Amino acid sequence: MIASEPRVKLVSFFIDGAWERPETRSCGTIFNPATGAAIAETAYADSSDVDRAVRAAHRAFLKWRAVPVVDRVQVLYRFKALLEQHHDALAATLTKENGKTRDDARAEVHRAIQMVEVACGMPSLMMGDSLNDVAAGIDCKTIRQPIGVCAGITPFNFPAMVPMWMYPFAIACGNTFVLKPSEKVPLTPTYAVELLAEAGLPAGVLNLVHGDKTAVDALLRHPLVKAVSFVGSTPVARYIYSTAAAEGKRVQALGGAKNHLIVMPDADMPKTVEAIIGSAFGAAGERCLAGSVLVPVGDAAGPLLELLVERTRSLSVGDGSQEGVQMGPLVTSAHCERVAGYVEKGVAEGAVPLVDGRQSKPAGGGYFLGPTIFDRVTPQMTIAREEIFGPVLSVMRVETLDEAIELVNRSPFGNATSIFTGSGKSAREYSSKCEVGMVGVNVGVAAPMAFFPFAGWKNSFFGDLHAHGKDAVGFYTEQKVIMSRWF
Ligand code: NAD
Repeated sequence: MIASEPRVKLVSFFIDGAWERPETRSCGTIFNPATGAAIAETAYADSSDVDRAVRAAHRAFLKWRAVPVVDRVQVLYRFKALLEQHHDALAATLTKENGKTRDDARAEVHRAIQMVEVACGMPSLMMGDSLNDVAAGIDCKTIRQPIGVCAGITPFNFPAMVPMWMYPFAIACGNTFVLKPSEKVPLTPTYAVELLAEAGLPAGVLNLVHGDKTAVDALLRHPLVKAVSFVGSTPVARYIYSTAAAEGKRVQALGGAKNHLIVMPDADMPKTVEAIIGSAFGAAGERCLAGSVLVPVGDAAGPLLELLVERTRSLSVGDGSQEGVQMGPLVTSAHCERVAGYVEKGVAEGAVPLVDGRQSKPAGGGYFLGPTIFDRVTPQMTIAREEIFGPVLSVMRVETLDEAIELVNRSPFGNATSIFTGSGKSAREYSSKCEVGMVGVNVGVAAPMAFFPFAGWKNSFFGDLHAHGKDAVGFYTEQKVIMSRWF
């Protein structure tokens, strides 16, 4: 029997400004990954729910697009203030459903707030260009207009931040939105939508449905949905891109990753080790920017691995809501088993476990796996090729920077990478030659900054315009050129 907390609540949809508790829909259960206790149920939207949400968004669009942008962002200013007031409570909710530590959760909420702050600048960001006298007496200007109903589909690992890569920008541009967050972690995005409603967003501008593939497919095929933003795994990203694009929609689909951390012999080893620990084991490795392959170059391996193994063994794994815990559980029991399966595969295929996380997991009902490091990993091994999305670091030794570049560029993924070195020349060469979207230099996680665009390359991204920053303005608007002559 599954243990459950006293109040298992049904997570609601938010459609046309009203909260709905769709008792008759099929449901999924949300568990606290640190304890295995059931904490909520999520109703799964069917195509009629999605249709109502999209139609509400379409009706709202006809009014919202006419609201001056300076007035639209007033709602976001109030939203930002509410997010700040609720920062701790949002982080606590996040830890409870996702498992990441309270510090990681607070940091995520902080990044989410930064997204809203940048979207508040939409009056400047949306400005067009103009040039007088492109021909005698003729002036020309560009304007940006919203495109209509946009849909967002998000993953489990950043339930506060990833939705904010999307809807604050979309609605500030004058669009309306339907959000379908991960069914594994619906509580945090629902909490944020409650705050947005409290901030005074008009009915229908943002709608929230929960669910699985059925809800996603209904969004992808709905004729009133004009644009789809997706973040999740590569196979689903590819499917979203091809399906929605075939329906004539604008699509950005951010996918999975396999991120390499290159360490040159001239790196500052103690600082590099701290950065690697954060990158590989922060948020239990459930980050699309997590370092998952460590590539020591030449003599770097000896001193690096000695320090890294010692530091990894000292990490405290446990319930992320507890003080002093440095790594929480994995999100679900199934995901935990999947990651443990990769550890077994690593051993079976001949990799050398320097730290075996199966031996360091805390007792109890949570979905724990301790941090794991494999040495002598070869390109053919499964753990070198596939995204694991857990606290497993594979070491692949090379002799030269050129070999490291070749290894990275052979990967089908291109989300993020870092190089650790004391040499500006090596850093410059690597940053320029690697085929990857986000590059860190002596930085373990080249994290998405709200005011810059973010996306990977190759199988880590399907689309054209990236998430947030100025690219979000391009994605969520149509450009029009107006040429005028007055007699
Ligand atoms: P996922 O692909 O399983 O799910 C993402 C979303 O897609 C969820 O809302 C889910 O309900 C929906 N979905 C799942 N299967 C579907 C299907 N067959 N058809 C239609 N919709 C479907 O991803 P996840 O497990 O929630 O998240 C982890 C993945 O997300 C990792 O691969 C990670 O690298 C990736 N990720 C990427 C980025 C990035 O910026 N590139 C950021 C965060 C996470």
